[in-house]
Amino acid sequence: MTAIPGPKSRELLARKQAAVPPGIGTALPVFVTRAGGGVLQDADGNSLIDFGSGIAVTSVGNAAPKVVERVRRQVADFTHTCFMVTPYESYVRVCEKLNELTPGDHDKRTVLVSTGAEAVENAVKIARHATGRPAVVVFDHGYHGRTLLTMTLTAKNMPYKEKFGPFAPEVYRVPLAYPFRWPSGPENCAEEAAEQAIDMITKQVGADNVAAVVIEPIAGEGGFVVPARGFLPRVAEFCRTNGIVFVADEVQTGFARTGTMFACEDEGIVPDIITTAKGIAGGLPLAGVTGRAEIMDKVHAGGLGGTYGGNPLACEAALGVMETIEEEDLVARARHIGDTMLPRLRALQERFDVIGDVRGRGAMIAIELVEPGTKVPNPAAVQEIVRRCHAEGLLVLTAGTYGNVLRFLPPLVIPDHLLDEGLGILEKAIAEL
Ligand SMILES: *Cc1c(COP(=O)(O)O)cnc(C)c1O
Repeated sequence: MTAIPGPKSRELLARKQAAVPPGIGTALPVFVTRAGGGVLQDADGNSLIDFGSGIAVTSVGNAAPKVVERVRRQVADFTHTCFMVTPYESYVRVCEKLNELTPGDHDKRTVLVSTGAEAVENAVKIARHATGRPAVVVFDHGYHGRTLLTMTLTAKNMPYKEKFGPFAPEVYRVPLAYPFRWPSGPENCAEEAAEQAIDMITKQVGADNVAAVVIEPIAGEGGFVVPARGFLPRVAEFCRTNGIVFVADEVQTGFARTGTMFACEDEGIVPDIITTAKGIAGGLPLAGVTGRAEIMDKVHAGGLGGTYGGNPLACEAALGVMETIEEEDLVARARHIGDTMLPRLRALQERFDVIGDVRGRGAMIAIELVEPGTKVPNPAAVQEIVRRCHAEGLLVLTAGTYGNVLRFLPPLVIPDHLLDEGLGILEKAIAEL
């Protein structure tokens, strides 16, 4: 309807700039008035195709009917008691469901909190308490949040850590099996990366000092890096033989996003603790820490919690999300999205050597852009493609340690015709570039 952003959005953006500090960035400055079915509507009457889902959150769609209905009922009944003061059933139900849905059929317990960072912090607290050990091992390209501990766990300096130190102690970083950028080639990547990681842990930290290894099964903000096959099982096995708590951070990869309920399932990994958030509650703030009962039960009464953790509106939303995933078989739908996107993006890679790598699983897909004929990161090309896509009404997001990755996270309910139209806009933007 108008240029992007239109006049109303520009007016609101000026107000934002006067009221909100620039530390809170904006990927695409259109102000949203309604959203759903893979479309964002803005204040100027424009409709944009959503390949972002609010960063992998609205997987069941925006304002999904089952979420809206449950939240509407709950908001009229009660909005908060604090689960630590007087409990309510929906919190328990969400925990039962998480215990059932996460990998492994062992006895599990779940704690609910409000954000992904809080879930990761609690996973570390629990692992330290259960093992009596201080150290935490994380990986290159990892992202775990913006609080003091989780930004310490995060790999990338700019923008997450720059001048926000000093950081938390006892955090150690080891290599991730990144096939596209592995020096000796993708075929050696899994084995060599695992060997290096394990060597660093044993020689530099001491396996006996490590409480937890925290890893994303597919690195999210780091650029949708799918670790070479064999790497994750090797790391998980090392943890098992050394009494280290293996924490899978599935905040971005979880809840059907990658074509399985959890990304760990792809290689049959059973984590000791799994953290979830983002796609769990359709946009209401909720996160979970699910782990082996014998680990979770170690922490003393009152050692875990928070005022808002497992808020009743968010719990009802999560139950609505789980029903929607099941009833609409969104796990299969995520696979279908991957099966649609990957061949088209690979065909594009054949035509344009600015595309160095195409990767991802299910509805978590990315392309990595390079200086043609090299592996030199090309963030300028990413910025230009994003600019063109946004101008044509397709919301896409960026990622990557080198800022040279375009990532696609459409809602799993996006209709085929919109997926196709979005891909068409992307193809045109790359061809024109
Ligand atoms: C987004 C994210 C987090 C942090 O979640 P917040 O809700 O933003 O605190 C942690 N881990 C991963 C893998 C994420 O993608």
